[in-house]
Amino acid sequence: MSPNKFGTPVRSAYLREYRGRDTVTGPRLILLAWALILFVGGLLVLRRSRRLHQQTGLPQGRVIYADTGAWNRCEKPLFSRRYLLTGRPDYLVDDGGAKIPVEVKSTSCPPSPYRSHVLQLAAYCLLVEEEYGQPPPYGIIKYQDQACAIEYTAPLRAELLTLLAEMRQHLTAADVGLSHANPNRCRSCGYREECEERLA
Ligand code: SF4
Repeated sequence: MSPNKFGTPVRSAYLREYRGRDTVTGPRLILLAWALILFVGGLLVLRRSRRLHQQTGLPQGRVIYADTGAWNRCEKPLFSRRYLLTGRPDYLVDDGGAKIPVEVKSTSCPPSPYRSHVLQLAAYCLLVEEEYGQPPPYGIIKYQDQACAIEYTAPLRAELLTLLAEMRQHLTAADVGLSHANPNRCRSCGYREECEERLA
């Protein structure tokens, strides 16, 4: 190969330059590989958490802006003769003609609304459906720090009806086993004094 004006063969100069570049791109490649691994790992975790959530049949809470000044207190309990169910949401919000039930909690919002909170809200959605003849598209759980919109989906409605049927069976059963292991629930339970299975 012909030497250049500095007396260095062109090919050797090119190779030296290339090798120099190689030592610079090595760490970058490792960083890129790590970024890719983290990105793919994040996607997998997100997919898995979504799948787990779907398996529970419960919709995910959607954080919304809540203009509580426009909310109307629900003055009287709602009642369903068909499901023999009654209850009173804290508020009923008008959203383009749809009545949206709101349940207010005094605690801050957990990472994902508790199953019991979601099912209580679903019961209010069912009552609104019965009372006004139109199912609300969603309900709202207003926690101390933020409000979560919960879609009133067909699977959620079906899960609620199954639960109501189970509860009705339990009403006439001779013995019903304890369904939780949470002493805090017993501490604030209205049946605590009479309950022989209380945990606190
Ligand atoms: S006191 Fe009895 S009824 Fe109340 S939450 Fe505890 S176990 Fe259930």
